[in-house]
Amino acid sequence: MKIALHWKILIGMALGAVFGYAASQAGWTTFVDNWVAPFGKIFINLLKLIAVPLIIFSLIKGIADLKDIRKFSKMGGKTIGLYILSTILAITVGLLIVNTVQPGKKITEETRSSLMKDYESDAIKKIDAASARKQTSPLQPLVDIVPDNFIAAAGNNRNMLQVIFFVILFGIGLLLIDPAKAEPVKRLVEGMNDVILKIIDIIMLMAPYGVFALLADLVANAPTADLFAALGLYALCVVIGLAIMIFVVYPLVIRSYVGMGIGRFFREISPAQLLAFSTSSSAATLPVTMERVTEHLGVDDEVSSFVLPVGATINMDGTSLYQGVAAVFIAQAFGMDLGLGDQLTILATALLASIGSAAVPGAGMVMLVIVLGAVGIPEGGLALIFAMDRPLDMMRTVTNVTGDATVSLVVAKSEDKLGNPQPNELDDFYQITSE
Ligand code: ASP
Repeated sequence: MKIALHWKILIGMALGAVFGYAASQAGWTTFVDNWVAPFGKIFINLLKLIAVPLIIFSLIKGIADLKDIRKFSKMGGKTIGLYILSTILAITVGLLIVNTVQPGKKITEETRSSLMKDYESDAIKKIDAASARKQTSPLQPLVDIVPDNFIAAAGNNRNMLQVIFFVILFGIGLLLIDPAKAEPVKRLVEGMNDVILKIIDIIMLMAPYGVFALLADLVANAPTADLFAALGLYALCVVIGLAIMIFVVYPLVIRSYVGMGIGRFFREISPAQLLAFSTSSSAATLPVTMERVTEHLGVDDEVSSFVLPVGATINMDGTSLYQGVAAVFIAQAFGMDLGLGDQLTILATALLASIGSAAVPGAGMVMLVIVLGAVGIPEGGLALIFAMDRPLDMMRTVTNVTGDATVSLVVAKSEDKLGNPQPNELDDFYQITSE
């Protein structure tokens, strides 16, 4: 019997969570750490391994396929504009919810000091990581985009934006040279791109087992339940906000503007969402997001190969929403009243902080320090939300990835680049063996 990929991943996740829970109850966490967790790590490494080559070849191919430099700048402007718009919307949703529910006011003095005590040292590490960034000029993010060495940039997955910068330059160069000379380069890039896509198919064979290991490790090493309970209302605010984005905002856009069925959208994008959930990394999920959006949702690779790598790096609706909610929650817990001006500052800094967050686990929390600093909320307050960060990271990454996919559909629709691809959902999993 052939089972669709998203079901296999879901089953892997569920079994992993059950196994992790049983292991923590039976005291087998060392066994999980030594013998199960490494497979999760291998799976994430494989995904990250393919991320840089994928960006390089697919982005060059995407730009070269545009054939015209004007088309490129039009699509670029539209993409960035939509990303900024969706992020602002996400933060606004988060701020509305957290100001209505006011979860920080429910935190008792006792819980606050116990959380602060337990997580102070972890919080300090994040604050240190963020302060290195803060001590630079406001234009530093711009400087950071321009690498001084391509090999060094490509050597670190955190430098994706630098790689994208160089690759865009390369693509533009390719568009501008004599077409006869460009032709062999294009053909090579196309061939390389196909090879990379095939490698992704191969890696995805491991997905159900990889997510099993990731979830088992996470659950076996999770903090105790009573800590989660104390932070329940705060977490609920983030989750409701993220759910509004995923189940209301994006579907509305997809239905009304793109004209695609919501069921189809979720069915086809779900493997990427599940992977985002288990890896907490938009960068690691990127290969699968690309594959789903292009081969299953019909976005022309001219569009997806530009919109998605850029989106994975700068468009983080989930992260920005979380940063808004977390900042207000911490302020409330410390008894601070934030006025409209402060809330607007949070909106602006969360927009920038989410753009600056690397697409890796926990990055949103590091950048949250900058949001807190901008409104004078004590940065040590990070300790309050530490215990809850990983599960929320998993969910905000799902939102980030869904937001990228939605924008790619919108751009494709507006550029008339949305086809109706073979819904070959059942089953890319067997594709390799059947071919
Ligand atoms: N983990 C998130 C991502 O990769 C970033 C974050 O919010 O920490 O999209």
